[in-house]
Amino acid sequence: MSDAVLGVDIGGTRIKWVRWSPASGIVDEGERETPQSGSQDVVSAVAALIRSVPVEAAGVAVPGHLSTDRSAVRLLPNLPGEWSGLRLAEKLSARTGARVRLVNDARAFALAELRLGAAREYDDVLFVTMGTGIGGALALNGRILHARGDVVGELGHMICRSDGLPCGCGAYGCLETVAGGRALVARVRAGGGHAETPQDVVRAAIDRDGLERTVLAEAGQALGTTLSNVIAYTGVTSIVIGGGVAPAFAFMRPAVEAQLAGRARLVGPVDLRFAQLGARAGAIGAALLVTPTSASPTPGDNRYEHDLDLSGTEDTGRGPAVPGDSHRAGRRPGRAVDRA
Ligand SMILES: [Zn+2]
Repeated sequence: MSDAVLGVDIGGTRIKWVRWSPASGIVDEGERETPQSGSQDVVSAVAALIRSVPVEAAGVAVPGHLSTDRSAVRLLPNLPGEWSGLRLAEKLSARTGARVRLVNDARAFALAELRLGAAREYDDVLFVTMGTGIGGALALNGRILHARGDVVGELGHMICRSDGLPCGCGAYGCLETVAGGRALVARVRAGGGHAETPQDVVRAAIDRDGLERTVLAEAGQALGTTLSNVIAYTGVTSIVIGGGVAPAFAFMRPAVEAQLAGRARLVGPVDLRFAQLGARAGAIGAALLVTPTSASPTPGDNRYEHDLDLSGTEDTGRGPAVPGDSHRAGRRPGRAVDRA
């Protein structure tokens, strides 16, 4: 058996995976549909995946919250079936013989980007994943904050509208109800447009100047307000944005930057950059969770180049988000990859 591990990212519609070698990175990768017939079928699908590759350890990212010891699922609202209390790590270990660890999917994304992607030269970073919902994570002193149950970073459930719509979390006016992928689709439809998925909104916005861009600009204002608050509270001024909606971020960016510019006096310039590892970031982060930290591959390896089409709006990482100041807070000298 090789020293490779498996990283699995269970999403609402797709399960993505990478087989990961500490020495050379991705050895193999793939994806399949997420069973919509309940938690047991998802467990069976992931167990079959782990059994199909010769690994001793697997990291599994889930779109929800975990038990305090991070071995069971506590809350997983976006997948059908009964998940609450499911001892997922134990079940997968029993059926595969592999050592299994769980992680929240946004925190897995952040771990990958922190170690190997857009944030690899930074210690203090705020991460945002924009997809069907909105996830987040926070790195301080070079480490992702997990806390009990892996609950740190729920940016999508910060309230940005006091008179807002009900959110799946039970509150009203959460960022996700304005800027989450589902909300973007609903807002386009309410305005008379046609969209089935967040990707439809992204594609339409890139193709033409119309309703979709207006909806994204409104989402950008809500996102900017929320990020401004997090920045004021944490003092963290490096932001990495990823997820399936990120390719349309150009249409949110002016509103986001207008809000962030208002923070300049308080915290200095804000560095806003795109994730680099693409749709595999969650699976890579899950793999890193069970990889010895002294054995990560070299950052900058071209196999990790991102695959987002940013339509010429990609942040090169060479310039500041706020013009006139090239200082980047939170940056550390040199590269460090041996972090947990
Ligand atoms: Zn919420």
